[in-house]
Amino acid sequence: MSSPIAPGSDTAAPASAALFERAARSIPGGVNSPVRAFSAVGGTPRFITSAAGSQLTDADGNTYVDLVSSWGPMILGHAHPAVVEAVQRAATTGLSFGAPTEAEVALAEEIIARVAPVERVRLVNSGTEATMSAVRLARGVTGRAKIIKFAGCYHGHVDALLADAGSGVATLGLPTSPGVTGAQAADTVVLPYNDLAAVREAFAQYPGQIAAVITEAAAGNMGAVPPLPGFNEGLREITRADGALLILDEVMTGFRVSKAGWYGLAPVDADLFTFGKVMSGGLPAAAFGGSAEVMGHLAPLGPVYQAGTLSGNPVAVAAGLATLQNATDEVYAKLNANSIRLGGLIGDALTAEGVRHHVQYAGNLVSVFFTDGPVADYAQAKAAETFRFAPFFHALLEQGIYPPPSAFEAWFVSAALSDDDFASIEAALPAAARAAAAATQ
Ligand SMILES: *Cc1c(COP(=O)(O)O)cnc(C)c1O
Repeated sequence: MSSPIAPGSDTAAPASAALFERAARSIPGGVNSPVRAFSAVGGTPRFITSAAGSQLTDADGNTYVDLVSSWGPMILGHAHPAVVEAVQRAATTGLSFGAPTEAEVALAEEIIARVAPVERVRLVNSGTEATMSAVRLARGVTGRAKIIKFAGCYHGHVDALLADAGSGVATLGLPTSPGVTGAQAADTVVLPYNDLAAVREAFAQYPGQIAAVITEAAAGNMGAVPPLPGFNEGLREITRADGALLILDEVMTGFRVSKAGWYGLAPVDADLFTFGKVMSGGLPAAAFGGSAEVMGHLAPLGPVYQAGTLSGNPVAVAAGLATLQNATDEVYAKLNANSIRLGGLIGDALTAEGVRHHVQYAGNLVSVFFTDGPVADYAQAKAAETFRFAPFFHALLEQGIYPPPSAFEAWFVSAALSDDDFASIEAALPAAARAAAAATQ
């Protein structure tokens, strides 16, 4: 891991540096989710004091054009008036009841109306809970133990799904995590992404033993790596033939890449879908759903237990509903146009400096890989010249552009990005491209 800038030495961020030092005395590594610590890029994580539209403001009063969007949820931009108003209205009528509400039914109906194979939805509090619950349900329904996942795909920090995971696990270069037992790991079969032959072999090796294949509908946690044509469809055929379930994880892509998520771009009838991020508009809520038959195995209808004190929280549900209702066709057109505009500017700047790179997309998720593309799996993503990323990142950050602090994370545009923001991005990129060109391993 290259760390060209020592933590705390960013002269632009003394207040953030002081807060980071203070945070490290009470929170492990100073952060509540590892990628926020800037471990892979070095320097000082910015402590954010406010955000509006496309802009973040940090504790030193620096402003940034935000290209992370809270890792996906903020498609409308920050503090969107309609979402804030919905949250305020919900909050004044009570924060949590531990009893059902009409609004959570409306959010479930909104999801069901968009993703045809989803007939029933259960709300949870995080994407991790959604995938954990989907895996338990798949095991409960099939009576089988094994799960197939793909290297570089991230499904939250579920024990059984951490092996060869993307996102922060990739950023920190971890193979898996201590604390995951041998039994949990033994029931997880990790295969290369986009490799149907490997999936067929695994089913031949473990006939009648695989409960489910779980895959990101389009991989976004090793960078944006879309499924090759026929990959998700092939998973559907293979799982169906064996009696295993297919779980499409749309926590990242759901309601971001289209009104119906990846399903809206390339519909595949999975047995279970997981959602998060956009569907709760920046508050903690997520969901999993599937056919009435499969979801009918969940308690209280069936024996597979799953629950949550704060599940369906009225404030989180209000934020999610307002976000989905305000995500119009124009918003999705803007997201798509903004991602292509961003990717184009990045590509042009790197080309001008002669930096080997490949900009690629999964819907409106954008990635830049410092390698000749396209990148189709985790091995190829890891083989890129990731040492160029930290200097590229810091040059942008210094100039008021906030990219994801990891070579393995996608860039997330919002619909709030303006022509002025793009002018700032375009102005900042040449110096960043020069820094990437000058980088040494
Ligand atoms: C973010 C993410 C998760 C985990 O969601 P959390 O809310 O962080 O627990 C799961 N799957 C995918 C594809 C994700 O991008």
